Amino acid sequence: MMNPNQQPPRPRMSPPRVQLVAQDAHVPQDAARVWLSRLGGTSLPADQTANRAYVERRLSKKGGVLAVHQLPNLSWVVWQKEQGSDLGGRVAQNEHARAKQMEALRQMGGQLQKALQAEEVETLWLTGDAEADEILALVEGLGLAAYRFRTYLKSPEKPPVDLTEIQICSAGSAGLHQGAVDELSALWEAVYTARDWVNEPNSYLSAPQFAKEVLRWSTQTGFHAEIFHKKQIESLKMGGLLAVNKGSVQPPVFMVLEWKPEWPQGTKSDEQKPIVLVGKGVVYDTGGLSLKPTPGSMDSMKCDMAGAAAVAATIGAAARMRLPVHLIGLIPATDNRPSGEAYAPGDVITISDGTTVEVLNTDAEGRLILADALHYAKKYEPQLVVDLATLTGSAVLAIGSQGAVVMGTAEDATIDAFEQSGLAVHERLAPFPLWDEYGEMLKSHIADLKNIGGREAGAITAGKFLQHFTDYPWVHIDIAGPAFLDSESSYRGKHGTGFGVRLLLHFLKRYTQ
Ligand SMILES: [Zn+2]
Repeated sequence: MMNPNQQPPRPRMSPPRVQLVAQDAHVPQDAARVWLSRLGGTSLPADQTANRAYVERRLSKKGGVLAVHQLPNLSWVVWQKEQGSDLGGRVAQNEHARAKQMEALRQMGGQLQKALQAEEVETLWLTGDAEADEILALVEGLGLAAYRFRTYLKSPEKPPVDLTEIQICSAGSAGLHQGAVDELSALWEAVYTARDWVNEPNSYLSAPQFAKEVLRWSTQTGFHAEIFHKKQIESLKMGGLLAVNKGSVQPPVFMVLEWKPEWPQGTKSDEQKPIVLVGKGVVYDTGGLSLKPTPGSMDSMKCDMAGAAAVAATIGAAARMRLPVHLIGLIPATDNRPSGEAYAPGDVITISDGTTVEVLNTDAEGRLILADALHYAKKYEPQLVVDLATLTGSAVLAIGSQGAVVMGTAEDATIDAFEQSGLAVHERLAPFPLWDEYGEMLKSHIADLKNIGGREAGAITAGKFLQHFTDYPWVHIDIAGPAFLDSESSYRGKHGTGFGVRLLLHFLKRYTQ
């Protein structure tokens, strides 16, 4: 068997480059162009006025993306219509309407990307009279939709043509700054990276290989990363991580990531307590001895480190954007497999804080490795801890892949802010309760806790289990539903979505303002 540690790094796809061009700049004659009209507007480029009746017939009701090519020139028109404000959340109505509008634009960006790909467009010029945030949303969707995971395809005779450049040359771009465009590029880079990691199979991405990838990402973006190997994990007595790893051929790793902006020594910001992000890094989950079935279950379990991917990707983006917030990332990583050595149902293990856990199902492993990480987080006296985990099938049964489940002990304002960020970037959150009674379901006769609650309220009992290891304001986000999609969904694509990166970045940017 080839040691995954020996494998060379994979080639990765880069997101398109975006450039702001003066609005009176000359658009080359043969350029592929898209015209984006402002919300409710029905404007057309000067050379398309003859086509007005046709465009109105197709777009005046619902809006959308329409090809209006005058060959050999390729052109598209995008009109947007009011989306209404019903989002089923708890945010002010006007915010709802805008959030829904932005999402419609991202999805039209996804649609446009398909059209560009069919026409093999490499460089796109964006013109029109839309507002700055409307332009950004369309372009965001376009760039996210351009992602492909082609690592394992034999090189084709004709290499695929990807969109590599977007030139924004629009009246509305007067309100656009290079900074906003740079942030969008950093966000794309982070989402692409998270998706790459999720899409990489375990035959490449073992826990040690994941650590190597994160180290490379840290040098690329400028944050600090330290990897604890098995010896250090043993000396820290991380009994959850070690138990889950027992059946594996590959050793576990525990990653400690840090982004700390340069504040002048002795200033108030210099004393700021960090926000700790914790990500579940089960690089592959067979369920262990409580083995999963294959179809629709074990076959996609390379995605069980999507929380870890989102955390590491976000810290890289925060470093790129030089966000004024001190961030720590904690990632316990291992695979979970049956073997002669594997931990077994009935075992009692000891987490690093001394809590004993009766393991009744080895497939409820995520909470065991997270317990060690959440305990480790205490040493930072954090102002807030947020964990992201593909934790429970129960969360998927409850709300499907349309969003993630959120719960926690942080104050309402913090959870509300997360919900608002979720609506703004369309990585939506559904709040679940952490009532005391759910904790009763985790009582064991022979240990402090058992690792499963029962048939009911599985997402919540998993949350209650985690809560036991926290003594700080804490938010838990169960991303089991939206982290990995079996069928294509607009700009989210198929398979790894990078869910959580855009949510965390939006939250952190607002939190630090
Ligand atoms: Zn599992």
